Amino acid sequence: MIDHERAIPAVGIDLGTTFSVIAWIDAQGRPETIPNAEGERLTPSVVFFDGEEAVVGREAVKAFSLDPDQAAECSKRDVGYPIYHKVLQGKRYPPEVIEAFILNKLRRDAAGQLGDFSHVVITVPAYFDEVRRKATQDAGYMAGLEVIDIINEPVAAALASAYESGYLDRPGPRDRPQRLLVYDLGGGTFDVTVMEIRGREYITLAIDGDVRLGGWDWDQRLVDLAAEAFIRRHGIDPREDPRGWGKLWRECEEAKRSLSARQRVLVPFEYQGKSAEIELLRSAFEEATKDLVDRTRFTTVQALKAAGLHWQEIDRVLLVGGSSRMPMVRTMLRELSGKEPESVVAADEAVAWGAALHAKRRIDKARGNPTAFRIRNVNSHSLGVVGRDPLTNRRRVGAVIPRNTRLPVSAKRRFRTSQAGQRSILVEIVEGESTFPEDCSAIGRLTVADLPPNLPAKSPVDVVFHYEANGRLRVKVAVPDTSAEVSGEFSRETGLPKEHLDGWREYISGKAATDYR
Ligand code: AMP
Repeated sequence: MIDHERAIPAVGIDLGTTFSVIAWIDAQGRPETIPNAEGERLTPSVVFFDGEEAVVGREAVKAFSLDPDQAAECSKRDVGYPIYHKVLQGKRYPPEVIEAFILNKLRRDAAGQLGDFSHVVITVPAYFDEVRRKATQDAGYMAGLEVIDIINEPVAAALASAYESGYLDRPGPRDRPQRLLVYDLGGGTFDVTVMEIRGREYITLAIDGDVRLGGWDWDQRLVDLAAEAFIRRHGIDPREDPRGWGKLWRECEEAKRSLSARQRVLVPFEYQGKSAEIELLRSAFEEATKDLVDRTRFTTVQALKAAGLHWQEIDRVLLVGGSSRMPMVRTMLRELSGKEPESVVAADEAVAWGAALHAKRRIDKARGNPTAFRIRNVNSHSLGVVGRDPLTNRRRVGAVIPRNTRLPVSAKRRFRTSQAGQRSILVEIVEGESTFPEDCSAIGRLTVADLPPNLPAKSPVDVVFHYEANGRLRVKVAVPDTSAEVSGEFSRETGLPKEHLDGWREYISGKAATDYR
């Protein structure tokens, strides 16, 4: 995959819910953000569909507030679902296709500065499941990229932070590992990761999170506060009309940022010929969003428990993601942990920098060069197989790899056939914490056909999962004690078929299908 001769730039992408960033490792070995064609370091993750044209970034944000029905925002929140929640100009897009338009802009704009390139590392929230990781990889493919790896955002942030403090080149002592809690609250997702840095190793101990909680939810509460003030004044609700809502949301998102620095802001707002100066107070905003901060607090405690640690054993609390700038977050974490939370210097860019550092490592490794660090990961969700409970004969999930298991891992679990003379077995693979299959997400299935004849009932069937460090899965099934070892190929239920991916790749990026993947 990696050409050993040609110099390939090490490029990393933070594909964010609200903003995306692309970075590379420059000739001096330093991570550096690549500005987009408009000269901005952060590209808004918004796509505006205008006939055949898809506009991405700042221009799309402007168009969005005038015509919200034609624009896709927060597509990352829908990744994992078959279709984006809004119909755009009569079309229904899979969320990963919308993400591909964003990635394509980042690729094109960066190529203007680096020359043509395709190898990248893309980051995902640590709490993303297998289906969402695969969809993100597909988005990269459709954007004309070759995704050499997917890494977790908090790990990328920890790498960038280690780089900034000079650790990456000067590994810490192995006998006194440093323990880190990374609290990552972005635009649309939230996760907490507990990590240990031991020498050159970056080891994830536990992950927890919420894929549908982020700055966007805080925005909605502020929109409600502002709308209520406007209603009190003029008796009309700007949220009733998508344009009024879009405009108010833009104003409130700005105001939210100001409230991180000030106690009070005035938002001039006009709707249906009526105008008002809406006063927004930090105290009222904090009161209206207390339950959201509490949700992150609960998840943080859960992650620490899952790592089997107490606050005294945590050396540093690291704040990542734009929304962690809200003072209420810092206050909550300080009270909870008894430590002063630290922010990474370039908070908005750190994740992309970490991705670029990891891309460099992958490229160095493929070339047989020494690498600066090593990443050890855990899985964020349990993986299992649907079977029948022999007592109740009901469908139940048997876990094969429990959540927070160190990766890569191979795990085997023995199941049994239900009938005598059974010639095939269907293995359904699911992800989730429940024992009820309907509460878990289906990952894929695998059929083992041509079992030897005359197999007695309750013959053993071994299911083996290989779960890789980047959170991707391979599955094998074997029937022991038979002369033939039977194994099957695992096919995924979710995601777009290869022909669709190739079609979109050509349409979005102008690049033909490749055998890569
Ligand atoms: P990220 O995806 O990490 O770039 O985070 C983007 C989110 O952070 C958006 O919801 C922004 O509104 C929010 N954000 C950025 N800066 C601030 C700030 N100073 N105060 C509050 N929220 C912010």
